[in-house]
Amino acid sequence: MTKDKIMLPGDQVSTSEELLPGEGTFEEDGIIRATRVGTYYVDERHRQAIIKPLSSIPVELKRGDIVLAQVNSVRSNMIIAQVIHVIGKDRPISGDTNGTLRVSEISNAYVKDPTTEYAPGDIIRAKITQVSPSVQLATKDRDLGSIKSVCTKCRYPLYKKDNYLKCDNCGNKERRRTAEDYGEYDIKKF
Ligand SMILES: [Zn+2]
Repeated sequence: MTKDKIMLPGDQVSTSEELLPGEGTFEEDGIIRATRVGTYYVDERHRQAIIKPLSSIPVELKRGDIVLAQVNSVRSNMIIAQVIHVIGKDRPISGDTNGTLRVSEISNAYVKDPTTEYAPGDIIRAKITQVSPSVQLATKDRDLGSIKSVCTKCRYPLYKKDNYLKCDNCGNKERRRTAEDYGEYDIKKF
């Protein structure tokens, strides 16, 4: 594990055999995962895995920002996603982070049903189109969309194969609206 790598919620940082889950992490089935965006750090004294926030000075969301958001729920006409990171701003977000992605804002192509495009747990790169009175997101550009998705059956990370995503663990095939750098993203660059 490289020390300065920025971790996303859900990323594996260590195992319960090696370390204890510390701040910014949780343990599930022996795997320690990040609960927030930050850098991985080991507290050697307490043998704890920790995800340090990138900075303590908060930033407010602005229209036009490119952000990372984690999909919480997928409804018949919209997606609810929590904004977790502003690209280029290594700072926590102050204010409302509860974003809405309307079905018409998912893609330039017609989308009938959001469940064919995203699933809960997806980390998506999106553009902020409105901040007030509510945070609105869009993923129409090709560099926007899911950058990381996990299998809806077994939670294993999905990898991109041709025009679908595949689970190495259970063989499940899934579809997502993916960003063109799905699986090879660098969250610092955009
Ligand atoms: Zn699977």
